[in-house]
Amino acid sequence: MKVFFMFVHQAGKWMKNISINIKPLTSVLVKPTGPDCNLKCTYCFYLEKAGLFPETLRHRMSDEIQEELIRQVMQQSGSSVSFAWQGGEPALMGIDFYKRAIELEKKYGHGQTVGNGLQTNGTLLNLEWAEFLKQYDWLVGLSLDGPEHIHNHYRKDNAGKGTHQKVENNARMLLENGVAVNVLATLNDYSVQFPDELYNYFKSLGLTWMQFIPVVETDPADPSRAASWSVSAKAYGEFLCRIFDLWLADFKNGQPTTQVRHYDSVFYPYVGLEAPECTLLKECGSYVVIEHNGNVYSCDFFVEPKWKLGNIMQSRISAMLNSKRQQTFGAAKAVLPGECRRCPWLTKCYGGCTKDRIKDPMDNRKPRFCLSYKMFFAHADPTMKALAEGWKAQQRNIQERERTGGTYNAFKDFIK
Ligand code: SF4
Ligand code: SF4
Repeated sequence: MKVFFMFVHQAGKWMKNISINIKPLTSVLVKPTGPDCNLKCTYCFYLEKAGLFPETLRHRMSDEIQEELIRQVMQQSGSSVSFAWQGGEPALMGIDFYKRAIELEKKYGHGQTVGNGLQTNGTLLNLEWAEFLKQYDWLVGLSLDGPEHIHNHYRKDNAGKGTHQKVENNARMLLENGVAVNVLATLNDYSVQFPDELYNYFKSLGLTWMQFIPVVETDPADPSRAASWSVSAKAYGEFLCRIFDLWLADFKNGQPTTQVRHYDSVFYPYVGLEAPECTLLKECGSYVVIEHNGNVYSCDFFVEPKWKLGNIMQSRISAMLNSKRQQTFGAAKAVLPGECRRCPWLTKCYGGCTKDRIKDPMDNRKPRFCLSYKMFFAHADPTMKALAEGWKAQQRNIQERERTGGTYNAFKDFIK
């Protein structure tokens, strides 16, 4: 991306502007507890990362690493930046770690907008957490796979017991306290069979921001194939089409009343904007992952030695984001088979997530969910086009109203 960079001398004695090709630091994904978690979900791909940090059994970010991380991010970012605190289970750090994060963001910020998100399994939260999260306007990504029989199918604790009741209770508690919650539901071989039940269950709880994440993992017992809990392309395609119809049926006055992340993201290219989800972009590499010990990696799904970019105690985060290695990682997404390059959906799909091409060796590095995307676009394209036309007309009206003193912002209304 072409950006204008401004160097400001510490004392403000001189300034100069230079124009260079550089990716701005706009978001980081932080894993303050590394792979440590209080649950043992069957499909989790991150627990095994403990093997990367064998020095200790307990992984926790130190005060020193936390401060250096926040100092760098605040000082190297532009007018807005976001921190996604993730795991493992990030709530294992305890709430004081996050209170300190707020203080450090204030200390090192230079007036920019800062977003914080906590992606959590929800089992350790309580009223004190809710009040904190509300006070500082954090977005919670809550892992809840659905009603009891779906959630407990794979989301179990260390004793093998289901965790549904606790998470549902805490979802209610967060919502009652005004916390913004985005439900994160994995789609596996079991849950994918219940689109209506999932959608209606989340709606009934008041969880109207939904994100469905298809699971595909290599079978730990047989690396030549996908694990049994992986979702098939056909089942995922049928799921996307059905949820789309449910989402559409809930429109009121031309506006959606629920947010389904995938549809929001897919909509962007229809109005000429870049999708906010990396899976729909031409290349990867727009953010980095920072582990508990300060190690920096290319992506959440590629925390492995090959894609280690460095450590924040030795290198600048923005330099690692713009490193040759990260560029190489990003460019791999654009290496697509001929079928993709000739596909009418290419600019809306770009082959999906890179990791979904490698987790099942039987896919031969082709986009696993190609069939899903084709099914979905064939189903949703006419509606998306109509919605895009409506949105563009609204934009013209807004421009007209702004020209004449109106202030309504439809962009804000439609795309959250
Ligand atoms: S591998 Fe997938 S999740 Fe990672 S940056 Fe690329 S598209 Fe995004
Ligand atoms: S729909 Fe399939 S063939 Fe078309 S770009 Fe996406 S993954 Fe490639």
